[in-house]
Amino acid sequence: MSNSSTPSSSASQRVAVVTGGARGIGLEVARWFLARDYRVALWDIDAETLGRTASELNDAAHVLAIHCDVSQPDQVDAATAKTEAIFGRIDALVNNAGVAVFKPIGQTSFEDWQTVLGTNLNGPFLCTQAVAPVMKRGGGGAVVNIASISGLRASTLRVAYGTSKAALIHLTKQQATELGTVGIRVNAVAPGPVETEMAKLVHSVAIRSDYHDVIPLNRYGTTEEIANVVGFLCSDAASYVNGQVVAADGGFDAAG
Ligand code: NDP
Repeated sequence: MSNSSTPSSSASQRVAVVTGGARGIGLEVARWFLARDYRVALWDIDAETLGRTASELNDAAHVLAIHCDVSQPDQVDAATAKTEAIFGRIDALVNNAGVAVFKPIGQTSFEDWQTVLGTNLNGPFLCTQAVAPVMKRGGGGAVVNIASISGLRASTLRVAYGTSKAALIHLTKQQATELGTVGIRVNAVAPGPVETEMAKLVHSVAIRSDYHDVIPLNRYGTTEEIANVVGFLCSDAASYVNGQVVAADGGFDAAG
């Protein structure tokens, strides 16, 4: 699954970790970094899609694919150690891996709750905790947590998903406050609806129609539009931005 040889690229070349990078928003974020000469480690739970994505990217010197469930501390530690061993550094971490369960409160099982909180909240906690010491050794870095407009505003069916994303926004501020002191900036992006496999799974016809009615731009966002914001926050252009939540949502939150 993952590269076993040391890539030939320069040790000074920057490195980004993108969780859930096998497809969707994470894959687009990975492409943003690759286009700017970063080396990229994709950590994803879906081994099959990850393998396909890594071969499609066709860039063995710059892409490292690691099978990892971000909700599991031992797997996160192993992925961090492997990324550092092969790439030598980590400059950016995008906590993008997420799962969505859209159900009424009465139908949301405790298992649903634990699955959603495990990936969407425990994942960014564990990944940032593991990666921060590597960033610190390299002189600093940037973390972006992928939240959601569902973490900014409550709405039906999202008791687990919305709560996980709201908590992730607060986690972002906690992390920014503490890690900022060692040169690690932490910000969040709160996307509006984006056409991905996740949206296909949980956005019913009614949800799609609601979004079109309440988003001033009257459309879903694209993965590129989210990746551009994430990339900016990881870049030196955002060197004084820390602890912020940037909504990339076509004006949804502002219009609320
Ligand atoms: P996708 O479901 O298309 O892609 C997510 C990827 O993350 C999949 O490959 C998935 O694998 C993987 N993943 C899931 N759980 C884990 C885990 N525990 N460890 C590692 N990898 C995991 O999602 P999107 O691209 O749509 O979403 C990316 C992020 O953006 C998520 O955090 C989501 O909540 C957020 N977001 C998405 C919006 C949208 O409308 N699409 C709107 C707002 C926020 P598998 O398929 O096997 O689960």
